[in-house]
Amino acid sequence: MIQLYIPLGFLGVLYREIKQSLTDLDKMFVLLEKEREIADQPGAQDLVLDGPPSVQFENVRFSYEPAREILHGISFHIPAGKTVAVVGPSGSGKSTLARLLYRFYDVSNHEPGGPHGGGRILINGQDIREVTQSSVRQAIGIVPQDTVLFNDTIEYNILYGRPEAGHEAAVAAAQAAHIHSFIQKLPLGYATTVGERGLKLSGGEKQRVAIARTLLKNPPIVIFDEATSALDSANERAIQAELKSAARNKTSLVIAHRLSTVVDAHEILVLVNGEIVERGTHSQLVSAGGVYAGMWALQQSGTD
Ligand code: ATP
Repeated sequence: MIQLYIPLGFLGVLYREIKQSLTDLDKMFVLLEKEREIADQPGAQDLVLDGPPSVQFENVRFSYEPAREILHGISFHIPAGKTVAVVGPSGSGKSTLARLLYRFYDVSNHEPGGPHGGGRILINGQDIREVTQSSVRQAIGIVPQDTVLFNDTIEYNILYGRPEAGHEAAVAAAQAAHIHSFIQKLPLGYATTVGERGLKLSGGEKQRVAIARTLLKNPPIVIFDEATSALDSANERAIQAELKSAARNKTSLVIAHRLSTVVDAHEILVLVNGEIVERGTHSQLVSAGGVYAGMWALQQSGTD
């Protein structure tokens, strides 16, 4: 009987392992699917960069499905080393802008039934469709709304993409992202397993791991997709400080849900139904008394 128990227990563990691996595989296939949607042009060269570049969207139109255009001609410019923030209601197309800059999709890929659009996106004057996808992704660090952690140690998750950087570098990045003291208090410190099978982290903690990862990658362009999850005001201030350190000397696109995140931006774009309805600095938009001023008043009153 005992002999039977052991294999059964083992089978249970094995079953869970396989189930988890399938979940991971599933995620991988979703990513691979995205990879297949765009291809480099024959002979494409790498993006040429020299410090933080400028980023330009020129009359960008985009639809995931031909019948429903999501972005209707978006133009803006992020000067080298500056921050442009995008605000607007849920579903207005903010994350789509980030996906296009990262080249998850190309703006004019006229395959039947596939995503398509028009206009162009330039990094330092180079059309991102004409350079290699890998060099575009190398140049950009993304702090997504919801970071998927690997079922591995927290150190592995911070070093992801640059494992050769080593423990000291992971600690330095975690300190800058204000997650070091949290990690130190964990039972196994940096060796604690996180993810689905390990310690579950909160939205804010996961976002800090993503910030640490981005600091370590040290890309010239940063996309910050602010988590929608509610944060208390101390946490909100902390995330803002981390965001500032991640964006220092970098060209950044910030997708913001809390307006307090965007007050220092070089330019704020208000996106509604895939169109920029207002643009300017925080003080310009507040004095204009339009959509942004309304959103600001609402957030100040604490009802949103
Ligand atoms: P939120 O603030 O809620 O994150 P958002 O402004 O970032 O919203 P997007 O995620 O850019 O909005 O989505 C814009 C529109 O595109 C939505 O109507 C959404 O349903 C649609 N959309 C997003 N991804 C896809 C997809 N892969 N296929 C089809 N439609 C999509």
